[in-house]
Amino acid sequence: MLRTVVSAQEAQKIKQLLLESRNVVITTHTGPDGDAIGSSLAMYEYLKRKGKQVTVIVPNYFPDYLHWMNDADKILQYDRRRAMSKSFIQQADLIIALDYNAPYRIDELQLPLSYCKCKRLMIDHHEDPEHYCTVELSRPEMSSTCELLYRLFVAMGEEKQINIHCAEDLYAGMCTDTGRFTYNSNDPEIYEIIAGLMRKGIDKDMIIRNLYNQYSEGRYRLLGHILLNKMEINSELHAAIFSVGREELKQFKYIKGDAEGFVNIPLEIKGIKLSISLREDTEKDRIFVSIRSFDDFPANELAERFFNGGGHFHAAGGTVYCSMDEALETARKALEAYREQLIEVKSEK
Ligand code: 5GP
Ligand code: MN
Repeated sequence: MLRTVVSAQEAQKIKQLLLESRNVVITTHTGPDGDAIGSSLAMYEYLKRKGKQVTVIVPNYFPDYLHWMNDADKILQYDRRRAMSKSFIQQADLIIALDYNAPYRIDELQLPLSYCKCKRLMIDHHEDPEHYCTVELSRPEMSSTCELLYRLFVAMGEEKQINIHCAEDLYAGMCTDTGRFTYNSNDPEIYEIIAGLMRKGIDKDMIIRNLYNQYSEGRYRLLGHILLNKMEINSELHAAIFSVGREELKQFKYIKGDAEGFVNIPLEIKGIKLSISLREDTEKDRIFVSIRSFDDFPANELAERFFNGGGHFHAAGGTVYCSMDEALETARKALEAYREQLIEVKSEK
């Protein structure tokens, strides 16, 4: 038995909302990751079984390593299929927001949704949600939206409706949002949920191979370059910073998704508890910032203060519109601003 995270009352309310709707549009955040796509497709599988007309619309491209999921090819990418996406949105009587806490997280997809008068349901695990939905299920203490969604299915008395594809999607989201269960994953119930998903017949090992062994050669050449030539280590402050510019990305035949997870790698070095990645966009003049931390270091606070961003305590990000030299300067300044916290070593890794 899992502890109560979603109350019977809340579950009932959400079930009613889902079952009374006929045309559902599922949306998730820009730059969708495993949890975003996993939770969206898991909900899609569930609603299909309930006989609903359901469409998943994502703001933009999602990486190749998520394309193995059942019906991933049915997902509409808003930036490529605007007219078709809009027509589904116009017909919708329910819009579900999965794995994001505020409209700005879906970029341009905000606009067509803002014209829609239909009901909205948020299911998410990010802190400080904006209160714009009819029903909001926000649980920042959950490791992933997929974990929360599994608990919701159970609380709605719908555990039996989780088919193998839905189980695969949920497992994929839980796995990717915890770095294959290496962080944010100390809750024993996570493993009870995995056991429940495995009883649905999923091949966990195959899912992990699908998620992690599908990268391009260029990704590893680029990683080699970054680690050898670009990574700055500040051993006194237990921090690492690296930047990668548009020209370098081109040189290594960068395709979207190739740099995913790079920011975690410096944390594998003994003593490092903060890692900052600065990556120039290949199209627009902007720099994506990714921040990861260990222990008591608040990555989200640093992201907010220095990079117009936010996120989770140990995994955060933001975007800046300046030159790479300026962004690097900002990152170095940020380290200095947190000197006292960074200099201290709390725990042995
Ligand atoms: P990533 O480094 O994987 O792009 O992002 C890590 C986490 O940081 C995301 O799950 C998200 O919560 C948060 N994040 C990334 N970019 C932004 C941003 O621009 N604003 C806010 N508020 N959070 C962000
Ligand atoms: Mn998530």
